[in-house]
Amino acid sequence: MEQVKMKHIGVLALQGAFREHIEIIRSLGHIGVEIRKVEDLNSIDSLILPGGESTAIGKLLVDFKIKEILIQKIRDGLPVWGTCAGMILLAREIANDKTTHLSLMDIVVRRNGYGRQLGSFKIDGVFKGIENKIPMVFIRAPYIESVGKDVEILGEVDGKIVAARENNLLATSYHPELTDNLETHKYFIDMMNR
Ligand code: GLN
Repeated sequence: MEQVKMKHIGVLALQGAFREHIEIIRSLGHIGVEIRKVEDLNSIDSLILPGGESTAIGKLLVDFKIKEILIQKIRDGLPVWGTCAGMILLAREIANDKTTHLSLMDIVVRRNGYGRQLGSFKIDGVFKGIENKIPMVFIRAPYIESVGKDVEILGEVDGKIVAARENNLLATSYHPELTDNLETHKYFIDMMNR
């Protein structure tokens, strides 16, 4: 039987939906590490930035003095996946907000892109590289308005980009950790192995 090579996958645990990611990482045979302080970053092979409130997480990254070292590690190649608020943290620009946070991925995102009426919804969507459609849960989600030349679009829903990748960076608008579908997590782990 093929041995699963155990990875230490960090999940930023300052605010938001981090526990669900940790549980999925464990169920896939890897080690989930809650990241709360800068030293926690030393032991990880990759990092998930979870959904939550990007303004709050962005502020806590500064308050806990994690931001600058995290930016350096990601620039040096640490694989990172931002879901929902995490996608906003990664974006080079937020179309409807003057702030940026880590500003590492060449995407322009629109916060709360689906408006008030469509605050939360679930659909089955296509993700390039995953064979079947997967359930996608959107909660006051952002979408990607435009991408730079090195960004590969991986998923679109109703003409809006909801998943994309640029080298070691992956971003999704939806919350895969709130469904029982593990395919996006497997995609990320595969991406680390390459
Ligand atoms: N609306 C949130 C924000 O702007 C993101 C929502 C989420 O992560 N589910 O940060």
